[in-house]
Amino acid sequence: MANPKRRHSTIRQNTRRSQWKLSKPGLTPCPRCKKPKLPHFMCPNCGYYNGKEIVNMEKKKENKDKKDKKDKKEKKENKKKK
Ligand SMILES: [Zn+2]
Repeated sequence: MANPKRRHSTIRQNTRRSQWKLSKPGLTPCPRCKKPKLPHFMCPNCGYYNGKEIVNMEKKKENKDKKDKKDKKEKKENKKKK
């Protein structure tokens, strides 16, 4: 198998790696609420895609609040048991 003849110096390695960087995701404004969202994805703020409601965000929030309350209650009960 082919092997490198000489090792590359750390400066050479670091110069090569200086080009490694993260890129920002291409965000587009939601046509309904104008908040930034990923293209070809449902808007996480209003739950709309292509002019149609995909997820009812108000209901989702209510369910989440209920779940959080339930979780808190369970945690308290577990603490009492101990
Ligand atoms: Zn939206």
